[in-house]
This record gives sequence, C-alpha cells and structure tokens, in this order.
Amino acid sequence: MATMSVTEQALNTYVRETGGWIASQLEACTRCGMCAEACHFYVATGNPEYTPIWKVELVRRAYEQRFTLIGKIKQALGFEKPVTDEDLRHWAELDYYACTMCNRCSMVCPMGIQLADLIHEARAGLFEAGLIPSDLKAALDKQIEEGSPLGADDETFDDRLEWIEDDWDVEFPMDKEGADVLLVFSSIEIMKFPDNLAAIAKILDAGGVNWTLSKEGREVTNFGLYAGSDELEMLIADRVIRAAKRLGVKRVVVSECGHAYDALRFRAANLRGEKLPFEVVHITQVIGELVESGRIKLKAGAFENGKVTFHDACKIQRRGGDFEQPREVLKILAGDRFVEMTPNREEAWCCGGGGGVIAIQDADEVRRAAFTIKIDQINAAGATTVAMTCSNCRLQFLDCVDHFNLNWNVTGLAQMVADALVEEG
Ligand code: SF4
Ligand code: SF4
Repeated sequence: MATMSVTEQALNTYVRETGGWIASQLEACTRCGMCAEACHFYVATGNPEYTPIWKVELVRRAYEQRFTLIGKIKQALGFEKPVTDEDLRHWAELDYYACTMCNRCSMVCPMGIQLADLIHEARAGLFEAGLIPSDLKAALDKQIEEGSPLGADDETFDDRLEWIEDDWDVEFPMDKEGADVLLVFSSIEIMKFPDNLAAIAKILDAGGVNWTLSKEGREVTNFGLYAGSDELEMLIADRVIRAAKRLGVKRVVVSECGHAYDALRFRAANLRGEKLPFEVVHITQVIGELVESGRIKLKAGAFENGKVTFHDACKIQRRGGDFEQPREVLKILAGDRFVEMTPNREEAWCCGGGGGVIAIQDADEVRRAAFTIKIDQINAAGATTVAMTCSNCRLQFLDCVDHFNLNWNVTGLAQMVADALVEEG
C-alpha cells in the first residue's frame, strides 16, 4: 500500500473531524479584515500571514481542491497551485507558533466565523500529519507517559507536596473519601509556582471547604488540546474525570490555569458526548463565592505597593465569564490603587503565551513581540503590579518582564488573597 503524503493525512483529518463545517464557515468570509486587527500576533508584528483567516487559508484551499468542482477547475486552469507538503510545513508554523486560541478574532468577526475553532481543526490535521512542533510533541509524550508534561511524575509530585507542606505549613489531603471538592493543579504550578499550591490550600481551608487532591487526577494541564488531538485530549482529561467519579465529589475546582479549565469545563463533556456528573469551576469563582459569602475575610487595603491591574485570561475571563470576582477582590485589597487596562474584560488582549505557544522555543520571538501590546497597556494604566488567574499567563509575563527588563511585580490572584487572609480569632 502506498504511503500517504502529509497533505493527504492532514486532509483526511479535516474531512473526518469536520465534514462540510469548515467549508460553510470559510465561504461566509467577506474579507473585511476585522479579524486581523483583533489578533495580537498581527497587530504587534504587522505580518499579514498572522491574519487569523489566513491561518486557515490552507485548510480552505485544500478542502476546495479536493472536494469542490470550483477547486478542481481553478487547479486545472492553473489559478491555484495544489497544496503541497511544503505548504503544510509552513502553515504548521503559523498555526502552532502564532495562535494562542484566544478567541478574540472569532468574537469580532461580523460573519460569526469561529476562527479559533477552525485553527484548532487546522492543528488537528497538522498533528495527524506529524507536523506538530517537536518540543510541543515532547511535552505531550511526557504527559501521556509520565502523567505530566513538566516532569511531575508520581515520585516528584509526592516530593514536592511534602516540601510545600513543610515550608508553607499547609496540608494536602490526598484521595480523601467523602470530600466535596477535588482540586486539580496545572503542571506549571506544581513545578514552577509551589507558592500557588500553598496559597490555594490556605484559602480552601480558611473557607471551610471539604477538599482533596487525587494522585490519579492530580494534573489538569492538557497538551492534547494544544496539539489538536481530540483523542489525546480526552485521554488526559479522563484521568481527572475518573478520579472525580471514584471520589464522588460534587465539584472539581481547577486551579490557576486557563487552557486546562477550557479542556475540562467546556470541551470534555462535548468530546465525550455525555454530561459530567460533577460541576467544574475555576478557583477564581470559588474565591469570589468565599469572599462574597463572608466565609473568608480579607484585610482591606493589604496591597500598598503602587498600583495594581488585572490581566484577563482568555479562557477564564473571555470564555468563562469570571470577570467580576477578581475585580471585587482587588478593590478590597487595593481600593483605588486598582486600575484597569484598556481594553479589558471580554475585549482584553491575550498575553501571547497560551495555546502551547510558550512551550515552543522557535516561537519565542513572535511570542515576545505579541507581549509588547501588554507592555503598552500596563504602562498606560500606570500599574507596576499585575495580577492574574492563569499560571500560563504568569509564566509568559515573568519571561517577558525578564526579557524586556521591566520593573513590574507579577503575581497570581490566589497568592494575593492568601497573603491577605484575616484569621478568625
Ligand atoms: S485565536 Fe487569538 S491568537 Fe489565534 S488567530 Fe485568533 S486572535 Fe490570533
Ligand atoms: S473578520 Fe470574519 S469576515 Fe472578516 S476577514 Fe476575518 S474571517 Fe473574514
């Protein structure tokens, strides 16, 4: 049997995954260009290839050439060249390096074209054709084989928890029968932000939440989603779902990670074709509930160091709608020292590090270029501290603060809340 070219493999995936959906979406495009002005990669660099609709042009062309009469005629008359393996390799760079799946472009498209979803489908075909960037693939393989893309295997996870328990004076209940809440962390938090694990444990304990961690479902990061593989995305999400079902929890609380929240909260039930038997909420929402109900009390005015602003994460705020809880908390902590960036909330600019982009070394230059928009926003707001609810964003901010030599303090909301907890006497 003849070996399939990468183009054929990618095409077969587009067809299998989407049927005619791709074609109907792309035919609606009026070439108005509004999506370009919504994309941080295009706006920061001016590179026309970073226009969102162009990032799926390959899919449109390949689909048209293979399945439509007009596509075959265009090809026969020489108006359009056939899609080649080399084209696919080039588009792999556009779709993996220069898209964070932030959804800002989909939001502005007057024709309602779901560009971020289409780019996800483009990644699906590229993944099937073996064109995923090597470092993203290495992290994905590690997550499949060891349970963690950043190396938090069973032993490392245990060691780190023990160390955090000792140094931060907290306790992590493990696989506790009868718990109401399963708390799941991102690998970035486990390996790079241990203070976040301690902060969230302190907040849940102070609020009287009956919670547990689980060895099996400890990590909620999902490199299957970044890669574009629904199958591997489900396999990874199933580890948390199995643990939550076994423990019989009412809620799974996702810690400070945006794409992990998207995978579990919005995509898992759809991919599985069944409702999850528990609620999935983000820690931002839990903090908001605990503060609003008075179950935790915060020291008003605890933040005294200049001005603080809030960075809206694409998946937690734009997609998840958790806009107000962090702002309410920051108003308590900082009063009128809390200032907004412009634009904000659903119109906020992405930081440029999501969608797996920060894991791809060859994308460093464009990722950092995209961040210059945040620099302008934060400088215009006059803030020197920036808080957020996503550790992937936090990693991007820290990398760029270092790269651009910025004198900013970068922190997580949970961290600020834990530091301002008022202990009930
Ligand atoms: S989803 Fe975000 S990063 Fe991707 S093309 Fe659209 S605006 Fe750009
Ligand atoms: S905003 Fe929508 S209609 Fe306009 S160019 Fe982009 S995809 Fe096409």
